[in-house]
Amino acid sequence: MATLGDISQRDGASDARDNVTKPEGRPGPLNQINRDPVENWQRGGFGLYLHWPFCLSKCPYCDFNSHVAARIDQREWQDAYLAEIARAAGETGERVLASVYFGGGTPSLMDPELVAAILDAVRAGWRVVNDLEVTLEANPTSVEAGRFRGYAAAGVNRLSLGVQALDDRDLAALGRLHTAGEARAAFDLARATFSRVSFDLIYARQGQTPEAWRAELGEALTMAADHLSLYQLTIEPGTAFGTRHAAGRLPGLPDEDRAVALWDITQEMTGAAGMVAYEVSNHAVEGAEGRHNLVYWRGGDYLGIGPGAHGRLTLDGIRLATEAPRAPTAWLQAVRQGRGELPREALAAGDVLAERLMMGLRLAEGVTMAPGDLPPAVAARIDMLVSDGLMWRETGRFGVTATGRRLLDAVLREILADQGGSQPDSDI
Ligand code: SF4
Repeated sequence: MATLGDISQRDGASDARDNVTKPEGRPGPLNQINRDPVENWQRGGFGLYLHWPFCLSKCPYCDFNSHVAARIDQREWQDAYLAEIARAAGETGERVLASVYFGGGTPSLMDPELVAAILDAVRAGWRVVNDLEVTLEANPTSVEAGRFRGYAAAGVNRLSLGVQALDDRDLAALGRLHTAGEARAAFDLARATFSRVSFDLIYARQGQTPEAWRAELGEALTMAADHLSLYQLTIEPGTAFGTRHAAGRLPGLPDEDRAVALWDITQEMTGAAGMVAYEVSNHAVEGAEGRHNLVYWRGGDYLGIGPGAHGRLTLDGIRLATEAPRAPTAWLQAVRQGRGELPREALAAGDVLAERLMMGLRLAEGVTMAPGDLPPAVAARIDMLVSDGLMWRETGRFGVTATGRRLLDAVLREILADQGGSQPDSDI
């Protein structure tokens, strides 16, 4: 998930320089790119991600930065968020903010008053677009649904509901604290409260047949969300599912053939319903695409505020990676000392391009790049993938075909071969 920031002194930019780790010089063709990194953030937009790190319990598949706490002092957290927002706005306040995203964790555990105070500070810190998108992730328990109206009054205009399954037995297996009935009720209330509503489903679950997924997705598509995020269950190391899987105690996960069948059903049914995948796992009716995540995928700049939040910031033509301390107490302590952020890293040109391709090629629209901006070796590999039917290319733009999307990680590994930087690490 993503995060963003606040207002204050205008001389913060010099702090940014002092706090930067210089990039290693990296010989190689990718250093030919990044002639104008500023253009990427201007085209991609500018957003703010705020991370709320607490949940009521830990789901066994979850590897997000989420924690269960006996007691949370929301006032203390408000002071910290507002301080970081002020610091961030002091550095970037001249930019125009297009989106704010409350992610987590479970942001629907935040008091609506806390969300309102944060959004007031955001509007004081930056100029914002007329139709600022403000998304909040929520779990569909009845208690959290009771806060929806308060969030709307605070300025949230898009809710992202973590429904995950429409089957009670599977919800229990996923460690979720809500039932399918509660999820449907929360969704109806969200539709009546917010102008835009998205929800998440996890598929390729234990024992899930193509027929069962077809029925469940069919119901989801009748629920009139404008946006659906449909993720295949992945087993991450370090999670409870990861431990069980390693011990052979997680039976019924789909083999490759069944995973492909489930993927194909997803594309076929969402396409027929007018909710095509504008990104690998994200589907929307036209015009309802999540603008915040588009900032990431289009290579825009975004601020990350809150424990473990990452950001990307282009200052004086240098693309910086930012990261906040991960543990909630460590982040609060760092904020109290004046800076809730770890030392920044200036990204090498090759890493900027690799990231741009890894993010942008998730989109159906592909990557906009002028001919000649790509190193010749990379361009040649793309040409080869085009002739294999896995990619498409037109003037100033290229992307991955529907066939290539099934194999996206392999396609990316091929394009980025020999670069030695970040590489894709998970299959669809
Ligand atoms: S509610 Fe979301 S963030 Fe919290 S543990 Fe479950 S999956 Fe992770």
